[in-house]
Amino acid sequence: MLHELQKGYLENELVDIVGREYVLTDDADKLVYGLDYFWIPRMYIDRGKTPPFPDFIVLPKSTEEVARIVKIANIYRIPVIPWGGGSGSQGGVTPIYGGITIDLKRMNKLIELNAETQTVCVQAGINGYDLEHELNRKGYTLGHIPASIHSATMGGYLAARGSGVLSTKYGKMEDIVMTIEVVLPNGDVIRTLPVPTHASGPGILQVFVGAEGSYGIITEATARIERLPEERRFRAYLFKDFNSGLNACKEIILSRIQPSVLRLYDEPESKKQIKKILGTEVGEGCYMCFGIEGDKEIVEILERRAVAISEKFEGADMGNKAAWEWWNHRYNFYFPPKALDFPWMFGTMDTLITFDKIETLYWTKKKLLEEKYAKWDLQYIAHLSHWFPWGAMIYDRFIIENPPWDPEEALALHNEIWNDAARASIKCGAVLNEHHGIGLKLGRLVREQYGPAFQVLETIKNGIDPQHIMNPGKMGFGPTHS
Ligand SMILES: Cc1cc2nc3c(=O)[nH]c(=O)nc-3n(C[C@H](O)[C@H](O)[C@H](O)COP(=O)(O)OP(=O)(O)OC[C@H]3O[C@@H](n4cnc5c(N)ncnc54)[C@H](O)[C@@H]3O)c2cc1C
Repeated sequence: MLHELQKGYLENELVDIVGREYVLTDDADKLVYGLDYFWIPRMYIDRGKTPPFPDFIVLPKSTEEVARIVKIANIYRIPVIPWGGGSGSQGGVTPIYGGITIDLKRMNKLIELNAETQTVCVQAGINGYDLEHELNRKGYTLGHIPASIHSATMGGYLAARGSGVLSTKYGKMEDIVMTIEVVLPNGDVIRTLPVPTHASGPGILQVFVGAEGSYGIITEATARIERLPEERRFRAYLFKDFNSGLNACKEIILSRIQPSVLRLYDEPESKKQIKKILGTEVGEGCYMCFGIEGDKEIVEILERRAVAISEKFEGADMGNKAAWEWWNHRYNFYFPPKALDFPWMFGTMDTLITFDKIETLYWTKKKLLEEKYAKWDLQYIAHLSHWFPWGAMIYDRFIIENPPWDPEEALALHNEIWNDAARASIKCGAVLNEHHGIGLKLGRLVREQYGPAFQVLETIKNGIDPQHIMNPGKMGFGPTHS
């Protein structure tokens, strides 16, 4: 902890770098920068308690300014927390030991769009929607369209290894990124190699992608872009149960049809959430929709094949409208009054697993959580969205409509549920998370997931950030800043 006198000195140094206007110290600002979408800090506020605050919020406009701030943070041994859009759900931006929150939103330039290589180079603080809008105007798309596009940034996309709604065709951010510039925890500025794949040793690029600000601050990124598709089609089916829907989806993926969208909702979600999106009941069973896009001729052929597979597994054709409705209104669920919000307790546990284990994982977690937390009337709902040639992400959630009011009791219940859910996932052969990251929420569990392999990540952390100033207490790294 810094003495008030030191804080005064540090504030002067920060003002010297970015200007008075861009160093925020008001309590109202600190409150805003104290939390993201993680349920626990928000619950603290809901219950009249205070979550941890940063000491300073600083808004630099260049890589050079970020580097100078980080160098000074090393001298004062004060934590530095990178902030993109604050849309994360894992408490990644929560300043648990105080420190300097670096908001990158002023670093929002589109530096270059290269039509020949079909790449775009941007500053890391660029807003996802602004970038996509600009690309669309020029006939391109990033291909990464997360539900949080309006608030997230390129830096956040990369730091949390994001997946957008079209990831099954275009890939996750780790596939889309080409090269990045990073301010290391000692303030040095580095660039990864100009192309993402090579045989020049292990890829340094991927060390920083998914590191959630624990290894440095991403300040610039070059990413590949795609031409806007000539044709985009959607179609929806209703399967009698999860198993038959899953078999159809697997076959679509294994046939290399490469849908841009492939969603299968379990029965409870088909009943409740799909109704919220479509505005009508879909009937008994599991709702599935797929999207195919690209050149018209190719789309026609691929759609025919996906239709044939869906019919082979006895899906009832709901037509195009029930799928376009899904596409056009899929974010309804994220806005009031339909969004999950207080007083409910909820968590999204998106896990990733190979095809052979999806069903076991789904039924194991559902049974475990619904039975153990029957007293709290816990609901378990899930859908499968992001697909890979070998498996898929289960986007499963728990919801408790009447959680305990006492904050300590609520915290204990929340963490117990997460422990049970995460351990069940690991035991079934899944990984903890597909695109939300680890943050503060899963730090204690990530070590269990990796076992002795965690020392590889920890050794990098200790070597690259010996003072542990970069986003301390996240990603399972500790002991943290004192
Ligand atoms: C309603 C809702 C829907 C969502 N949907 C999706 C979705 O469809 N797909 C998806 O992938 N995610 C989704 N998310 C999660 C979240 O939006 C993503 O993780 C997003 O990529 C975070 O970006 P951000 O700029 O807001 O990052 P922040 O929340 O600001 O930060 C996230 C983490 O990254 C670190 N960080 C941020 N910027 C940098 C940087 N430049 N360098 C180094 N570290 C940095 C932070 O310190 C923190 O640890 C959703 C979240 C919400 C609330």
